[in-house]
Amino acid sequence: MANYQVQRGTYDAYYEDAYYIHEIEDLLGTIAQTYAFSEIVTPIYEQTELFTRSAGEGSDIVTKEMFSFTDRGGRNITMRPELTAGVIRAVVTNKLYANSDLPLKLYYCGPAFRYERPQKGRYRQFTQFGVECVGVNSYLNDVEVITLGYRALMELGFPHVILKINSLGNKESRQKYMKALREYFANHIQNMCDDCKHRFETNVLRILDCKDPDDQKIIQDAPKIEDYLDQESKDYFDKVKAMLDEDQIPYEVDDTLVRGLDYYSHVVFEYHFIAEDGTSLGAIAAGGHYDNLVKEIGGPELSSVGLAIGIERVFTLLKQITPERFSKLTVPVYLAHIGEEAIDHTYLLMQHLRNDGMIECDMTFENKNLSAQIKIANRKGAKLLIIVGEDEMKKYAYQVKNLEEKTQEVVEYDKLIDYINNLEIEY
Ligand code: ATP
Ligand code: MG
Repeated sequence: MANYQVQRGTYDAYYEDAYYIHEIEDLLGTIAQTYAFSEIVTPIYEQTELFTRSAGEGSDIVTKEMFSFTDRGGRNITMRPELTAGVIRAVVTNKLYANSDLPLKLYYCGPAFRYERPQKGRYRQFTQFGVECVGVNSYLNDVEVITLGYRALMELGFPHVILKINSLGNKESRQKYMKALREYFANHIQNMCDDCKHRFETNVLRILDCKDPDDQKIIQDAPKIEDYLDQESKDYFDKVKAMLDEDQIPYEVDDTLVRGLDYYSHVVFEYHFIAEDGTSLGAIAAGGHYDNLVKEIGGPELSSVGLAIGIERVFTLLKQITPERFSKLTVPVYLAHIGEEAIDHTYLLMQHLRNDGMIECDMTFENKNLSAQIKIANRKGAKLLIIVGEDEMKKYAYQVKNLEEKTQEVVEYDKLIDYINNLEIEY
């Protein structure tokens, strides 16, 4: 006998979980629309080079995490590890920048794939919701995206969120800083982890991102980006911070925050949540400003700012801190029949409620006795039970039992939808 397992790092979502995951995605879409972002849907796979060029050859994503394969036509394909590169590719392919006012404001939601070591809040197939603002023409675009992320998480029900921000400065500042880092780490790198040794060669900035406690001690004394920002970079960062203050968005400046992708410059940010019992799943959302990606992918030079929220991390944490929100799904109205002859009549009545009244309802097609049907209704959390017997069929008037208040009334066919709607039963 075959015994199929769910693939490592993937999951099945069903019933309440599937319902609430969609609800989270819908709410995020609505919030993005409030900020005048419109949806973009791009393919789940792209040519591998798109990701190696954009994320950077030395990034964790490219070196260890990509799901890549050769298709039957010999093309190198990769299942997208994040959605930004595909969105920017679509902007360039369709020349969206040529026919629309800038900035372009786009949001997306869909699966991403990374070959990671699976653990809580870390999957190999996961879902990202995100926004990209392409063609930034003011520091307020950065402020707007950072704020959208913060407000969205609050709106979803997080009681508090830690927003960390940092500036990687413009290219010149960053180059000076990286030179200083290289000089500093040159004296320490022999005592650091293998990943850091690799980062030292490919992108020294990423060493700051290392989670190893011993390495962290060395990192603490490394030069700080703040001391290498030129006037332009400082002014930009100051304006962003001042506006966040003005709009009362709380944040902390974290000068070790560098983010994992190569394309960032100026402002980068992460959102964290720590539950009362100490649970944290790392960043629940993250983003930053990027200057070169559009050009790198073949478009004009357009600065952008983007943000991605991890749907599974949001869902897992919300389910832990507000389990009451994730209550069992119910079928509010259940129809019961007395005797085999009543089943077809009950079916047609049920279709009338669904088609003409958009009422969520169900019944069994098996010939069960009334008490068995009441038990099913209760298990499904029904508030109303409509009973169809011989007499009811003749008169087109039905026994309607309120299962909570234990009351019962006879209601005619034509009045049934209004009757149910007036009860305002909670779905
Ligand atoms: P981490 O440091 O936790 O690996 P990251 O920097 O790789 O995160 P991003 O590339 O910024 O993550 O992706 C944005 C968001 O997507 C993250 O903040 C997180 O919520 C979510 N995310 C990233 N990788 C995974 C994964 N493997 N499983 C589930 N969610 C993920
Ligand atoms: Mg990662």
